[in-house]
Amino acid sequence: MERKDIILSAKNINKYFLDPIRFKALDEVSFEAYKGEFLTLVGKSGSGKSTLLYCLSTMDTNYEGEIQINNQIVTGKSINDLAAVRNANIGFVFQFHYLLPEFSCLKNVMLPALKLGRYSYEEVEVRAMQKLKILGIQEQALKPASKLSGGQQQRVAIARALINDPAIIMGDEPTGNLDTKNTQIVFDIFKEISSEFGQTIIAVTHDNDFAKASDRIIELADGCIVS
Ligand code: ADP
Ligand code: MG
Repeated sequence: MERKDIILSAKNINKYFLDPIRFKALDEVSFEAYKGEFLTLVGKSGSGKSTLLYCLSTMDTNYEGEIQINNQIVTGKSINDLAAVRNANIGFVFQFHYLLPEFSCLKNVMLPALKLGRYSYEEVEVRAMQKLKILGIQEQALKPASKLSGGQQQRVAIARALINDPAIIMGDEPTGNLDTKNTQIVFDIFKEISSEFGQTIIAVTHDNDFAKASDRIIELADGCIVS
């Protein structure tokens, strides 16, 4: 029997915004994500998807409940410890790619690895090229990021998210800015990353086809998991 390893767990997450009025944005959210799973978070605008992802990503620490990543309780850790947990375990892909436009694609992908300091500059360069190859854009490696198309830029951003071989890749509307063709390319890449490399994808999306083709959908409504 196949054993499912839990890579992330959220237990009874409650989150309040106090401004302009006290508002409960997340209400007793509990779920587990497994190793190698391609998970999508769906729900109407304002249902709490981004808020949940920010808590899961450890960037927002102002919530009640407990989050574990890779068997480590991250809730309550210091800012510095969290930065280390993030850099080693989580890769991010946003709707807007946030690449440094003047830097080459290769350099953009290398930066988080240089920051982590696990490998030498030369090794990081080789690894960054491998990631660009997985994404099918190795020919663009030396071009400034600003010279690429939107779809290519998003693929560079995914290569950058993969550079430290994170256990989890999180995306907030990672295809929100892409046409159908590029959305399909990104979907296929996520599918490959999860099934072949055993990395877990947690992606917020409002694209129903994208969600339906993922391994599992978690639906939020008014800050609660409804299915
Ligand atoms: P989604 O990503 O599903 O569209 P969000 O997580 O961004 O929804 O927002 C959930 C709810 O929390 C919304 O009602 C939103 O207005 C509110 N909210 C989000 N961020 C803030 C904030 N910084 N301050 C106050 N309310 C917020
Ligand atoms: Mg959102």
